[in-house]
Amino acid sequence: MTTLAAHIKGLIRADGPISVAEFMRIVLTGRADSYYMRGEAFGAAGDFVTAPEISQVFGELIGLWCVDVWRQLGEPKRFSLIELGPGRGTLMKDVLRAARVAPDFLRAASIVLVEVSPVLRRHQQEVLQGAPVGWLDRFEDVQVDAGPVIVVANEFFDALPIRQLVRLDGRWTERCVGLDGVGNLVFGAAPDAIDAALVPEQLREAANGSVVELAPARSAVAHLIGERIRDASGVALAIDYGYAGPTAGDSLQAVKRHAYADVLEEPGAADVTSHVDFSALGEAFAGGGAVVAPLVDQGTFLSRLGAEARVAALKQSAKALQALQLDLAHQRLTGAQAMGSLFKVLCAYAPATLRPAGFPSE
Ligand code: SAH
Repeated sequence: MTTLAAHIKGLIRADGPISVAEFMRIVLTGRADSYYMRGEAFGAAGDFVTAPEISQVFGELIGLWCVDVWRQLGEPKRFSLIELGPGRGTLMKDVLRAARVAPDFLRAASIVLVEVSPVLRRHQQEVLQGAPVGWLDRFEDVQVDAGPVIVVANEFFDALPIRQLVRLDGRWTERCVGLDGVGNLVFGAAPDAIDAALVPEQLREAANGSVVELAPARSAVAHLIGERIRDASGVALAIDYGYAGPTAGDSLQAVKRHAYADVLEEPGAADVTSHVDFSALGEAFAGGGAVVAPLVDQGTFLSRLGAEARVAALKQSAKALQALQLDLAHQRLTGAQAMGSLFKVLCAYAPATLRPAGFPSE
């Protein structure tokens, strides 16, 4: 049993079942033995691989996208380039390399990494050696007077805790984690009904047994970013797996060594995430005062930014095997059967006159 499992069981024995949100918070970041705090998870040798780890093209295109946005903002002399949940630092490394085409952009940027894990901060520090990078625990700690913001978040929002509501006997209740008769962790439901008004209207009368997910932790961050964008101008780019609008279903998932695992089996030893409801995320950015572009899927976004041309250019100086790898990585990032349509890209921005590349204008 992991030390974290023992801790969670102790909590439940003492105080009763905990909500799914509390479970996720403890499992992912709550303690030194939480999943991200241990930070061993990433890359081919770890539990999962993310887009920047699959191909340098991903970060390079996003880097050029950031430079373009900065130009549209009037080339501010000072701005914050912020990444949420940078993992191993690969995306920011590729962003900064691509942005060398615009030395003034790099001179103007205060680079801020929002990262809770001390282990991952050390990784990031190594990978980004030489770049003037600062770390913060939370977005709200970003200096208010630091100029416009350009925020990038790849697979960050999926890692924030969600609540799950389950419909039982015609009422909505909080889905919880408790203990069965022999002391194993099991899902259950809290006895009291919760206010049905919390459930998106079109799902309120869903069949018994339906699960609906709410992500107040995501919305809180997105709302704050939206406010900052409204007040200081700038953009946020959120890339993640998820769905376009309110949908019933249990999307909580655990991933360990590149395969799906049981969410409750070894808490702290597997990544636990859920799919992002992009309509709720977009509403939170808009609630803060930012304009939200129509959602696009990752494949479309990368193609519009010129992924094919960048891959072709890299292939020109590649050996046969490398060329094949470049094609495979491109296929994985953009293919509809791979990450191209499950992953989606949300952009929030202000002022409304900006035209962030890759998105249709409203
Ligand atoms: N963006 C990276 C890593 C994604 S994994 C990539 O694409 O490879 C999620 C990242 O978010 C990790 O770096 C994790 O430590 C960080 N993270 C998770 N919860 C967080 C929180 N509440 N606050 C700040 N960072 C968090």
